[in-house]
Amino acid sequence: MKFNFKSQPDQMIEKPTENCADHSLYNCTEPDCSGEMEVTDISDFFNTGYTDDLVAGHFFEINYDTNELTIQGQLSEEELEDICSSGFATGGVPSADDVYRRIEILTDEWSIDWIEEEFFDEEGEPLN
Ligand SMILES: [Zn+2]
Repeated sequence: MKFNFKSQPDQMIEKPTENCADHSLYNCTEPDCSGEMEVTDISDFFNTGYTDDLVAGHFFEINYDTNELTIQGQLSEEELEDICSSGFATGGVPSADDVYRRIEILTDEWSIDWIEEEFFDEEGEPLN
C-alpha cells in the first residue's frame, strides 16, 4: 500500500465536542451550561486500536507550525503484517479498501483540503 496525502496549510486540527468538562462523559443537555466544551484532537482519530486505523494512521503527521497534514509512505506486505500483529491491535490485516475508507472518513469529519491525494493498493493500483 502506498500513501501520498498532503493537505493545504491551516487545517482544523481540534474542535469542540458535545461534552462539557462539568457534565462530561455524555452529551451535555444542560440548556444554559456554562461549562467549557471539551476538545477533540485530530491526532486521536486513528487511535482506536483497530488494524485498519493502525495502518491508515501509520504515516499520519501533523505539522503544528503550519497545521498541514500528511500521510506519505509505502508499506510492504511484511510491514503490514508486522503492524497488524502488534500486541494491542484488534483485527486482521485490513484490505486497501478498508484503509482508504478510514482516510475518507477522516477527510469528511475534519473537512480536510488535500492538495495531494493518492492511494495505491498492494498491486500498485490506484484507489482514487
Ligand atoms: Zn454542561
